[in-house]
Amino acid sequence: MIVFDLTCPQGHIFEGWFDSNESFEEQNTLGLVRCPVCDDSDIRKVISPVALKKSQPVAQTGQETIDYQRLAKEVVEYIKTNSEDVGAQFAAEALKIHYGVAEKRSIRGSATADEEKTLKEEGVEFVKVPFPVSEDDNKTN
Ligand SMILES: [Zn+2]
Repeated sequence: MIVFDLTCPQGHIFEGWFDSNESFEEQNTLGLVRCPVCDDSDIRKVISPVALKKSQPVAQTGQETIDYQRLAKEVVEYIKTNSEDVGAQFAAEALKIHYGVAEKRSIRGSATADEEKTLKEEGVEFVKVPFPVSEDDNKTN
């Protein structure tokens, strides 16, 4: 058995037990995983810094030695492998998904301050992550 921290679009966080990651993905695809609070089936895994920290035991020296850079890198890698890069079209795509015009999926990209404001006004949930900017990413801007 494996336990995941899960969350719904309303931000309720709960634990789910599954045989495996594949089992979770399968059940979630079928809409069988539901929020115990609001019964929403649009469930996704919480990327928890605590969970990431747990997976990397740190020697108990009395000193907090959290490797934040490595943590950030892992989060970025997770996002990169679990979302579609839509670049500067992020705001437009997020709105389309929000209104059901486009297929529901995880996307990532960049948004201007104005676009972020619009997304917030429309009630679109998004998370800002400080991506380390690489040479390639720069070219798309
Ligand atoms: Zn919920």
